[in-house]
Amino acid sequence: TTLLERIRQLDPQLNSFITVTADQALEQARAADTRRAAGDTGVLLGAPIAHKDLFCTKGVRTSCASKILDNFVSPYDATVVEKLAAAGTVSLGKLNMDEFAMGSASESSYYGAVKNPWDISRVPGGSSGGSAAAVAARLIPAATATDTGGSIRQPAALTGLTGIKPTYGRVSRWGMIAYASSLDQGGPLARTAEDCALLLGGMAGFDTKDSTSIDQPLDDYLAALAKPLTGLRIGLPQEYFGAGLDNRIADKVMAVVEELKKLGATIKEISLPNMQHAIPAYYVIAPAEASSNLSRFDGVRFGYRCENPTDLTDLYKRSRAEGFGAEVKRRIMVGTYALSAGYYDAYYLKAQKIRRLIKDDFSAAFKDVDLILGPTTPNLAWKLGEKNADPVSAYLEDIYTITANLAGIPGLSMPAGFIDGLPVGVQLLAPYFQEARLLNVAHQYQ
Ligand code: GLN
Repeated sequence: TTLLERIRQLDPQLNSFITVTADQALEQARAADTRRAAGDTGVLLGAPIAHKDLFCTKGVRTSCASKILDNFVSPYDATVVEKLAAAGTVSLGKLNMDEFAMGSASESSYYGAVKNPWDISRVPGGSSGGSAAAVAARLIPAATATDTGGSIRQPAALTGLTGIKPTYGRVSRWGMIAYASSLDQGGPLARTAEDCALLLGGMAGFDTKDSTSIDQPLDDYLAALAKPLTGLRIGLPQEYFGAGLDNRIADKVMAVVEELKKLGATIKEISLPNMQHAIPAYYVIAPAEASSNLSRFDGVRFGYRCENPTDLTDLYKRSRAEGFGAEVKRRIMVGTYALSAGYYDAYYLKAQKIRRLIKDDFSAAFKDVDLILGPTTPNLAWKLGEKNADPVSAYLEDIYTITANLAGIPGLSMPAGFIDGLPVGVQLLAPYFQEARLLNVAHQYQ
């Protein structure tokens, strides 16, 4: 069967795609064949992928899984989409996600929840749950995704995949619909580190259209995979193994540590003392930035507009009230509150100070170790709906991933086996711009 047939047969159960672009895919595949016949040996030529539905795609709906963008067709391609198309990839469509990437379960989509292919009564993680479910179910070999607080790494962990969040600024954010601009970063989700290296090589690089893009040469991610791990110094932060972590996950993580030791790594216990403040800081900063970014969805310029507005204020109010889902509204309200005069110092400024302390924790730790290792998530994939009544219980699931976004460092999650048939992930964190090292270690382990 072709991948398009597989999507048709299996995706009704998983709901990983929002839009399937069959005609465009066949056109791109034929173009790739022509290039191949003409002697083009590009590593991504003809590779089937799909994009998280917050990357703008020219002529194809880009919804962000929100009713407010249900009818939005972008007039241009995101840099990531453009670069991957130029490399000859074949896009099969747009992938489901949490609305505006706000969530950890992919349940907040306007188009319905995504299911975990390992157990369809459970969540695939989020917010890139559609990307993860589609790759885990072998509907596509790799997908684009984004990570603001863990949205590449956490779904990778919960679906048994490898995913990397690059250093902030390594992958262009141009055309990637913003959630929290100082934290958002695009990256690949795939089965192996090798596939991630291939896709990241096609996504990353300097872009003059993104003012936070960094003008630094790209490493050869593929060439780095083969490097032996002899002498690699790995730090295990004590804060990553404390209360709240499922013991069975801790055991799996330690089994990976034993394997890495056999491959030549040395282990050191370290401390990241400010980690306990990461969740409150993140859940002030991310909503604050979101409340500002999402002010552009006003029912006037693009997207959903309410019917029969009585005046301009009514148009703004009802378009946004009807267009945004509950979690998005919650974040807009929290963020607006945290930024308002009188509360700014107490919340937003305080959170920014904590952010600096977290960054400093990592800088201090990386003086003694090359990489930091721990669990990606404290728990296994949970049941659909289980955390809906209590948003904070879902926020707590981000404890191990959000620090990398606050500091801007790269992080990778790789599969580390199964517990009761459900995948477990191990996370590796590295200093700025050491994506190649992360992929190298994951590849050597795999
Ligand atoms: N779960 C986090 C949030 O809801 C992270 C989401 C993300 O990385 N996009 O904000």
